[in-house]
Amino acid sequence: MFNRWTGWKYSQRYFEMLDKRKTLPVWKKKFQFLQYLHDNQTVILVGETGSGKSTQIPQFVLEADFLEKHSMVACTQPNRVAAMSVSRRVAEEMDVTIGEEVGYIIQFEDCSSPKTILKYLTDCMLLREAMADPLLERYKVIILDKAHERTLATDVLFGYLIEVLRNRPDLKLVIMSATLEVEKFQGWFNGAPLMKVPGRLHPVEIFYTVDPERDYLEAAIRTVVQIHLYQPPGDILVFLTGEEEVENACRKITKEICNLGDQVGPIKVFPLYSTLSPAMQQEIFQPAPAPLNEDGPPVRKIVVSTNIAETSLTIDGIVYVIDPGFSEQYVYNPRIRAESVLVSPISKSSAHQRSRCAGRTQTGKCFRLYPERSFNNDLQPQSYPEILRLNLATTVLTLKKLGIDDFVHSFLDPPAPETLMRALEVLNYLGALDDDGNLTKLGEIMSEFPLDPQMSKMLVVSAEFNCSNEILSISAMLSVPNCFVRPREAKTAADEAKAHFGHIDGDHLTLLNVYHAYKQNNEDPSWCFDNFINQRALKAADNVRQQLVRIMARFNLKLCSSDFNSPDYYVNIRKALLSGYFTQVAHLERTGHYLTMKDNQVVHLHPSNCLDHKPEWVIYNENVLTSKNFIRTVTDIPGDWLIDIAPHYYDLSNFPSCEAKRVLKRLYRDTKNRK
Ligand code: ADP
Repeated sequence: MFNRWTGWKYSQRYFEMLDKRKTLPVWKKKFQFLQYLHDNQTVILVGETGSGKSTQIPQFVLEADFLEKHSMVACTQPNRVAAMSVSRRVAEEMDVTIGEEVGYIIQFEDCSSPKTILKYLTDCMLLREAMADPLLERYKVIILDKAHERTLATDVLFGYLIEVLRNRPDLKLVIMSATLEVEKFQGWFNGAPLMKVPGRLHPVEIFYTVDPERDYLEAAIRTVVQIHLYQPPGDILVFLTGEEEVENACRKITKEICNLGDQVGPIKVFPLYSTLSPAMQQEIFQPAPAPLNEDGPPVRKIVVSTNIAETSLTIDGIVYVIDPGFSEQYVYNPRIRAESVLVSPISKSSAHQRSRCAGRTQTGKCFRLYPERSFNNDLQPQSYPEILRLNLATTVLTLKKLGIDDFVHSFLDPPAPETLMRALEVLNYLGALDDDGNLTKLGEIMSEFPLDPQMSKMLVVSAEFNCSNEILSISAMLSVPNCFVRPREAKTAADEAKAHFGHIDGDHLTLLNVYHAYKQNNEDPSWCFDNFINQRALKAADNVRQQLVRIMARFNLKLCSSDFNSPDYYVNIRKALLSGYFTQVAHLERTGHYLTMKDNQVVHLHPSNCLDHKPEWVIYNENVLTSKNFIRTVTDIPGDWLIDIAPHYYDLSNFPSCEAKRVLKRLYRDTKNRK
């Protein structure tokens, strides 16, 4: 038996996996599915998480010879974790090397080759590809997977692909969803046929608490311990909200169960969240380890995860699910232009998905840490799609580049007019759109950077300030997870180490210092360890930087630096920062509070900042509402630069009256007098 893709003999593992694949529910529907796809341009496929959609359907398509020479199958995923994890799995199942016949593409990482015939990619990356290849001609079949998650990019693709299908009768589209609410999709795609894959799930018994829990984290940990003490063997999956909470819970669970000593069997606890390293994410798919001694009790696997385990990843062997009923959601408030990470109640549909995770291998139990009446009365039926709750500036720029102007009729759920207005307004201030809303030359270039528009603008103009090398490094550092490690047991040492990198003018320059120091120390892992620097973040930043350099080169944007010993070295960098972020400025009022410009929101410098003083004006990278309204990653800016660099934004004729306005007025007067 030879592998038709590689020409090599199949490995033993291939056959083992094939046997398991054949038991997946989608296999029973293989021929029906292929018939549907043969007869229709678009097919909608619904099946429970774990029924084999993401891993098998693309392989069915490959085997059925829909492809012509040099064409490919694309399968989108809502996030990078899912794209990497599924593609690795499928490469294994097809007995090929990942990155060759089967590849993946995620933001800043391309693991594919000219040999690739099946490409898993995030929905955002497919949109990016559409910018260069508007009819997506390299693909013969496009599969939009996990459409029920309704990410922003998937929603945009819904709108975009309708047009592509019209222009390309040879293109096939498959929409896959884990939830049944697909009438909307069917309506959108002119009544495309719907195929249901019956689940093979086992029953899951649902338990509720009598009263609401005051502290869901503590309740979740208590429930894990109870299950471990009193319930038969079976793995546990706990849903929490964010990375820190997950790590914290893992520590507490381990400690509490250790304290029980020999009364109970051993456990193995796995954290799971999107910024975890791919190797660690892969670990959760391993079955629980064998008992410590031959007739000892089995080891219980406990996965503590963010929402990502809900439908993005399928973990087999889970028998108990603990669902406190919350998830972390990004919500953008266009009125104050602030993004908040809200821990909010999940929807009924999410609660249902979570409970299903317990029934994949055998009969399971789901412990909802809220009363049944809350489930019935308080939870929304569905989660709000991202298009209704995120900042749309980047999306609008992408849409403009793709030639979509009708933002109301291009979407399943049209975005809020206020959010759209905000997006158009900021793009106009940045010079990406002209006053008629058309894409400018600058906007065209900005849209090529996979960054938010402020950052793209800053990069594009940085050469004018003679510091594009430094702005590249800062942009790269801002695009990766936090590089400062602060272990609980060594907080003081970590803070001292961080202080060494501190720059008096602010956090952006501190990040630049870290990047430079990393390079000067030859990217040495032990240097990172000694200095409490997360090496993975820096490696990622280095990679991001290289990719950005490539985009700069494509547009002949010059790479340059000012002389490090010149007094202008940092001045130039800060000016370039401001030329991108002039809409994100806060002013220190006499009351001692910062107010954001134009919106006049009270904000606080995030405690992670490295300033030793409170500057009168700061630019900030993000405005996040957590326990307070914080501005994070801030840099000191002299007020007169505002009117120098962004006079069109700081035009006082349309400025709300406030202390900052009076200061700006004076600055304008002073400049005029000087002239
Ligand atoms: P669906 O898309 O319908 O949710 P999948 O195709 O993702 O289903 O998963 C089918 C099965 O493949 C899962 O039940 C699991 O056994 C296996 N599987 C999927 N991804 C992985 C992975 N990364 N590692 C190990 N097994 C996996």
